[in-house]
Amino acid sequence: MQSANQDPVACNLCGGQETMPWCAALGERVVRCVHCGLVYTCPRPSPEQLRARYQTSYVDRHQDAALAAQRRQMYQLERQTILRLVPGGRFLDIGCGTGEFLALMSDRFEVYGVDVCEGYVEYGRQHLGLTHLALGELHDAGFPDSYFDVVQMRGVLQHLADPLGAAREALRVTRPGGLLVVSATPNIASLCARLYRHHFRLLAPDYMLYNFSPTTLRRLLTRAGWEVRRIAFPYMMTPYFRWWQGLEVLIDAVWMVVQGLPGVPPFDRRSPPFYGNMMTCYAWRPPVPR
Ligand SMILES: [Zn+2]
Repeated sequence: MQSANQDPVACNLCGGQETMPWCAALGERVVRCVHCGLVYTCPRPSPEQLRARYQTSYVDRHQDAALAAQRRQMYQLERQTILRLVPGGRFLDIGCGTGEFLALMSDRFEVYGVDVCEGYVEYGRQHLGLTHLALGELHDAGFPDSYFDVVQMRGVLQHLADPLGAAREALRVTRPGGLLVVSATPNIASLCARLYRHHFRLLAPDYMLYNFSPTTLRRLLTRAGWEVRRIAFPYMMTPYFRWWQGLEVLIDAVWMVVQGLPGVPPFDRRSPPFYGNMMTCYAWRPPVPR
């Protein structure tokens, strides 16, 4: 197993180096650690390739009005859940993009964000009036110990080269008893991932370096020092829910079983949005023992 620059890539979760292909069609591109089950991209795109990928302009991300409206609806749902758990204080969004989510939380929290994309950070500062946006990775920001009441990583952990290191740094900057929300995380153990394999809609080995399952996500956060309370699979109440998607999955499943071709859906179509595809994990920094 070799990375793009021929350095071996050890498993981020257990340090193991023995892997097997996650599915035959992707071969060695997406592998599964034989020791702990973590699924990841191998070889990995170079840091330069990844940086170029994230320097997309604001327009790229926001040109699809329908998708943007769905995302805003998700933000509202997620806001309500977070406020039920922690009503106020300091809120950090790691990989905050333009800071839209932060703007939504700013009536109840003092909001902070970090992002690697200069265009996003500039937009957030100028158009959303967010003053605490830092350019770079979490480690670069150098926040004080135990500073935040809530830390969020929304659709971010799976893109990082060292998710375990990021989870540890997130723990350091969260106050004892504070909340971590890891949301919009694709689930590689979902029914759709198992059924559609390389046609699973949330598989993107070119720029998504890890594919977590509830088990590997829980293990990684626990190893970093978090106390994982709950992993949820938001779907039915989200703007992505359509009643016929279950029917589509069922028809495809029957077709693949009858044909004896798992991972080869009719018309090569990708899996639809469905229950279990996405995970949200709520974890707490353990309080200091008295
Ligand atoms: Zn491993």
